[in-house]
Amino acid sequence: MEVAIIAHDGMKAEMVQFLNKNKEILVKENINLIATGTTGGKAEKAGFKVKKMLSGPIGGDAQIAARVAEGKTQMVFFFKDPLASHPHEADITMLIRVCDVHNIPLATNPATAELLLQAIAQQS
Ligand code: PGA
Repeated sequence: MEVAIIAHDGMKAEMVQFLNKNKEILVKENINLIATGTTGGKAEKAGFKVKKMLSGPIGGDAQIAARVAEGKTQMVFFFKDPLASHPHEADITMLIRVCDVHNIPLATNPATAELLLQAIAQQS
């Protein structure tokens, strides 16, 4: 199963914390992580294997949206920073829309992402 991780700058520490907390499930469920560039770099530094796309503001969100549309990515953890504005707001909205179009589970905060991971663990 391919899961995309994206975290805005204000949420990158939360993403790494989330990954570390859920390392066991990620490994056990054979989850392949893909990420926007900077988020992926942070995850790699924390010891995770990640396929990195471009950085979000220069097209990484759009690349992930394309993978969702093509059926390659089955779940998206997108930790948005609700207290910051983003130059690539159009791409962010597009990614969320594409997830909805294709009925792909999308978590926009750590609490929801954790519930989704627990659901995966329960199903297996
Ligand atoms: P980044 O992109 O991981 O390259 O910082 C995240 C984003 O969409 O802002």
